[in-house]
Amino acid sequence: MRILVVEDDDRVARGLLTALRHAGYDVHRAATAADALAAPPADVVLLDLGLPDLDGLDVLRELRRRPGTAVIAVTARGEERERVLGLRAGADDYVVKPFGTAELLARIEAVLRRTRTARAAGDRGDRLTLGALTLDPATREALVDGTPVPLTRKEFDLLALLVHRAGTVVSRDLIVDQVWQAHWEAPSRTLDTHIAALRGKLGDAVRIETVRGVGYRVAAHS
Ligand code: CA
Repeated sequence: MRILVVEDDDRVARGLLTALRHAGYDVHRAATAADALAAPPADVVLLDLGLPDLDGLDVLRELRRRPGTAVIAVTARGEERERVLGLRAGADDYVVKPFGTAELLARIEAVLRRTRTARAAGDRGDRLTLGALTLDPATREALVDGTPVPLTRKEFDLLALLVHRAGTVVSRDLIVDQVWQAHWEAPSRTLDTHIAALRGKLGDAVRIETVRGVGYRVAAHS
C-alpha cells in the first residue's frame, strides 16, 4: 500500500514518514501542492490543508477526481471550519494536529478497508453491488433482486457514485462536480430532487442517508 504524505513542515513530515514506514507502508512525501499533484498515484494521500503554494482544498478537489485514491485531510487544531470544508470537498476522513501515530494508523486502515471493498466490487466485471442492488455501468442497468429499475442518466450516475463509495459520506460538492460537471452553479435542489427520486424508485433496497451540511451516504438495508 502506497501512501503519499503532503506536508510542507520538514520536521512533521520526517516523523510521519518514519512512523508509516515502520508500519509497513510504502511512503512518499510531497512538500508542496505542485509536488503532490505531480506525484505518482497513491492508495492514500495524507493531505495537510495548510500548504505554501496552493489552497489545500483545491488540491483535495483535484485528488478527489482520481479513482482509487483515498484522502485524509490534516488540519490544524481547532479549525472546525476547515474540517467541514475538507469533508465537503470530498476528504474520506480527517485528523487534527497534533495527532498520535496510533490514531493516524487506525484511520488509514479504516479508509483502506472501505476503498478495498469498493474496488473489489469494481473488479468483478465492473458491476457494483450493494445488498439487493446491482449496477452495471456497461449497460447502465440497475437491478434490485434481479429486477430492472428504470433510472434516468443522472440518477444512474448519482447512484453509481454513491454505491462506489458505499459506507462513506459523499459530499454535495463532489456529487455536483462529478454528476453535473459543474461547481456551485448547479442548483442544489436538483440534487435533492434526484435523491428523492432514487429513494422512491429503490424503496427498501438501499438506504440513502442525508448527512446534514455535508452530503449523502449509501448503505445496504440490514
Ligand atoms: Ca502546513
